[in-house]
Amino acid sequence: MGKVLIIGAGGVGTVVAHKVAQHPEVFSEIMLASRTKSKCDAIAKAIGGNHIQTAKVEAENVSELVSLIKSFKPDLVINVALPYQDLPIMDACLEAKVSYLDTANYEPKDEAKFEYSWQWAYQERFKAAGLTAILGCGFDPGVTSIYTAYAAKHHFDEIQYLDIVDCNAGDHGKAFATNFNPEINIREVTQKGKYWENGKWVVTEPHEIHKPLNYPEIGPKESYVIYHEELESLVKNYPTLKRARFWMTFGQEYLTHLRVIQNIGMARIDPIIYNGMEIVPIQFLKAVLPDPGDLGENYTGWTSIGCRIRGLKDGKEKTYYVYNNCSHEAAYKETGTQGVSYTTGVPAMIGAMMYMKGLWKKPGVFNVEEFDPDPFMDALNKYGLPWVEKHNIDLEL
Ligand code: NDP
Repeated sequence: MGKVLIIGAGGVGTVVAHKVAQHPEVFSEIMLASRTKSKCDAIAKAIGGNHIQTAKVEAENVSELVSLIKSFKPDLVINVALPYQDLPIMDACLEAKVSYLDTANYEPKDEAKFEYSWQWAYQERFKAAGLTAILGCGFDPGVTSIYTAYAAKHHFDEIQYLDIVDCNAGDHGKAFATNFNPEINIREVTQKGKYWENGKWVVTEPHEIHKPLNYPEIGPKESYVIYHEELESLVKNYPTLKRARFWMTFGQEYLTHLRVIQNIGMARIDPIIYNGMEIVPIQFLKAVLPDPGDLGENYTGWTSIGCRIRGLKDGKEKTYYVYNNCSHEAAYKETGTQGVSYTTGVPAMIGAMMYMKGLWKKPGVFNVEEFDPDPFMDALNKYGLPWVEKHNIDLEL
């Protein structure tokens, strides 16, 4: 049993709050804090009961964070604000002596670049303080890395080829919308592609490599190689990998909108002067796009995310596919948000549960594949994201 502080009240924060509230036997007290307190209050009201306290916090202000943490005294801080806030929240956790969990790695605001170096640099400080930092505990990164760890532990002697496949076959009925924070999402999908092969990174033009892949219960969807952050830690933790790639599906309409947004300068992340005032075009764009947290109501269809792995077992080559399909409608019915927020928030809750139960607790900074995957995989089946595995099938890759 322990107290948890959730920072961030967007789509993912909504799901995390719902899911932790479902487990009072593990999370004895819950506080939800964010920049806009009214959003926290609305979530607490939708969940009902009296068990969620709310607060306003500016998560880039370390001293404000420290005083909130010291007054509530949580055992764990779940950071589901934006990647820009990862480092100040980690600094505050060190100062206030509390463990940390997030779902996305740090990105500087002025450069669309995500890598773990900034957060891995906290390793010695968390270790010395006897605190745990769990990095990337959403679906991808998160479950995809745990699937990989589970495959390596139970089904392979050596994993050699890893393809993470992420399909959103849902329909939200809007001409263009992003499924999570538009600024972070557009920064992620418009950068160059990158994958690991034979001991080095291969860089491609954005969306250069693509092919149709078949997703279970969904069928074929055009899938594109993009860079995704979990590849960085997975190739480090599984040095037998000869190749590791990340594929994501995009519809033609989505790609056309994205191209126009880039061509007209609306994806720019550098400040420009407008009417005598400094604005960042991509932040202005976020203000006019649909709020991802509001997409759930009319969202139909499924997400399907998994790992397709090839390697050796008992001297023979084998293939393995492990995945989850999540229904947007079912996610909305349970939490009032769509499937992408749901598939991120449920693993964050489970990671927090692993920490509270002492199963994922060790001093230092860790990516999720560095913990025992077994209790987490069991919990996925129990708490809303059941998985399916297939052995020795055609991986198409
Ligand atoms: P949203 O934009 O919907 O929510 C972000 C929340 O953080 C908002 O409540 C926002 O407040 C709050 N926030 C932003 N800046 C600050 C600040 N400076 N201080 C305090 N609060 C702040 O994002 P999502 O819920 O869609 O995503 C949350 C996180 O989850 C992101 O880091 C995203 O990258 C990650 N993610 C991870 C995935 C995975 O599978 N691993 C998949 C999808 C998302 P306000 O309402 O005032 O703007």
